[in-house]
Amino acid sequence: MQKLIVLGTGNAMVSKCYNTCFVLRLNSMDFLTDCGGGNGIFKQLDAADIKRTSIHEMFITHEHCDHILGAVWMLRAIATAMLADKYDGNFTVYCHDGLVEKIRAMCNFTLQKKMTALFDKRIIFKAVADGETLKIAGCKTTFFDIGSTKARQFGYKMELPDGKTLAFMGDEPVAPHCEKYVQNAHWLLCEAFCLYAQADKFKPCEKHHSTAKDAAELAERLNVQNIVLWHTEESDLANRKKNYTAEAKNYFSGGIFVPDDLDEINL
Ligand SMILES: [Zn+2]
Repeated sequence: MQKLIVLGTGNAMVSKCYNTCFVLRLNSMDFLTDCGGGNGIFKQLDAADIKRTSIHEMFITHEHCDHILGAVWMLRAIATAMLADKYDGNFTVYCHDGLVEKIRAMCNFTLQKKMTALFDKRIIFKAVADGETLKIAGCKTTFFDIGSTKARQFGYKMELPDGKTLAFMGDEPVAPHCEKYVQNAHWLLCEAFCLYAQADKFKPCEKHHSTAKDAAELAERLNVQNIVLWHTEESDLANRKKNYTAEAKNYFSGGIFVPDDLDEINL
């Protein structure tokens, strides 16, 4: 089974949906990427029927609050379970080296000492380098620096259990130096802040974000088979799937997925 379980689909400032984060269920393991902006991560995991204690690997893309603050809550939950003898094995946090100190510092400010005492014993911080390949959930995964000028951010490319490839770009468009990771991918998970038709209103470029049209054109040019669009604005969530899909369809011939929170996609 290889499945994408979408926990959140919104940009940083949303209130009607959760910030973009997700679980990849691969080889019967749950791999969490980003955690959204707070303890809403618990509500989303509960709604998706994912036990916090079933997660043993987590990747954090970058330091912005809509991606990282929920990680403090996840670490609190994991540490609490470990202290109660209700967690098997270790929990590993993957992120770039600059982020390790930031996550640890936030936890040191906000969690009890008995929780942070588990750091480096059962809660392991694994700094990943640009281009480094590791096994995550049993899958060969190459992490890379997406080249953000706002805050250093990493994405990854993964070989799924059935041999398909998945590229995840964090919350910015694909930079030219990252195209090699996206070329011919079966799945591209990428942000689309708004519709091209609404770019004047939402000004995605000012925020280093793009539109459904931009993402679709890029995916077509790089011979991607399927795109997942998220990290969007939330002015019309009821019609987002329909509208974003319709716009992307004009520029991309592959599969188009514009998930709502808690949607599941078979990869
Ligand atoms: Zn973001």
